[in-house]
Amino acid sequence: MTYNMLCSPMLTNEQIKFCDAYLTAIPENLENMNKEDFKNFICETFGISPEQLAMSLSNFRLFYNDITCIHCGIRYEIEQPLAFHKLPKNPHNWTCKSCKTFLKRSFDFNLTPVRHKPYSKALN
Ligand SMILES: [Zn+2]
Repeated sequence: MTYNMLCSPMLTNEQIKFCDAYLTAIPENLENMNKEDFKNFICETFGISPEQLAMSLSNFRLFYNDITCIHCGIRYEIEQPLAFHKLPKNPHNWTCKSCKTFLKRSFDFNLTPVRHKPYSKALN
């Protein structure tokens, strides 16, 4: 598994470390842990508050390099901790949200009616 991260320059190395840990760590032997417990576990491990974690996460994006959109090539973004996130069933045939929306859209000729001024008026 390889990832690419995009972080705001305001984040410190420590903040990047716990964002990465929160999104990619798969807790072992913690089968009964729910998402809330897991968030608290990360906060305790790094000695931070949930607010600090949330603030840092809002300045951090993580992309999974092994899954790319078959139409536009964009990488799959990990938005939820992997432990609570289901990756696409068929990673080699994944379509991103933007392409899905585009493919569903139908072309409507009547969307923006264009009114032409009479030609004679334009000449005056
Ligand atoms: Zn796409």
